[in-house]
Amino acid sequence: MTDIRMSPDVRTALGPDGVAKAGAVTLNNAICLGCEEKIYPNEPANVVVRIAGIGRATGRVAHVRYAHARCHASAVVEIPDARSPMPAAADDGMAMRMTAAAVDHGRSVLPTLIAEPEAPVYLNTGTGAGSELLDVLASRVLARGFSPVGRMRQAPTHADRWLATYSTPVGPDGIAQLTVMEPDGTLFYTGTIAPPPQWVAGVEQYGWSVLYVGKIGLAGIPASDQKAKTRLMREAAAAGRFVGARITVHHLE
Ligand SMILES: [Zn+2]
Repeated sequence: MTDIRMSPDVRTALGPDGVAKAGAVTLNNAICLGCEEKIYPNEPANVVVRIAGIGRATGRVAHVRYAHARCHASAVVEIPDARSPMPAAADDGMAMRMTAAAVDHGRSVLPTLIAEPEAPVYLNTGTGAGSELLDVLASRVLARGFSPVGRMRQAPTHADRWLATYSTPVGPDGIAQLTVMEPDGTLFYTGTIAPPPQWVAGVEQYGWSVLYVGKIGLAGIPASDQKAKTRLMREAAAAGRFVGARITVHHLE
């Protein structure tokens, strides 16, 4: 686990629950808030809480970010209200890791996308100590048709009006461009994936993919090691660490 350091005001802002969550991570692809370069898992990292006020009634959004110890002190930083209250993926440095895989769901092997946020983002639902910290991303997709996942025996239900597109995989590593849009057109993800042939074949057959959102820990697992991926996902599902839905996927020619 990464050596995570937090100042007293950061601890106060996060509360005991948030401190535990923000501290219990191994940073894999986290980008430093200061120099915008990668933080390696063996480097100590400071927690920086960026807070945007979005009105007393709805609470405040706290973005938990990490920085190299040399680049930014652990601190609570106010960001202007003008910014989007909800984390806008790329804009706010909310890096997301997307993995495409063919995952055994008991009776069938299904095309599956796994979105893992690099750093937790919480919505502080009240003011002061003891307020509840919700996982913003999970809350948002749950409100948009996703369901909690407990077991992986069958695919989660379809979420309406989500749409993903992917380009034909090219090159020796089979890299494809993937874009995922939320029901209102918000960009959920855009970036590359290296889908295995079974993912592409499954999407061609069904016209959809399962999309799981949560913390599973697939970073560092070789793309070809389906067994290890499936085992980690079963464990994460049993621990209630992700939510999921089926979403429509189109192939862009
Ligand atoms: Zn740095």
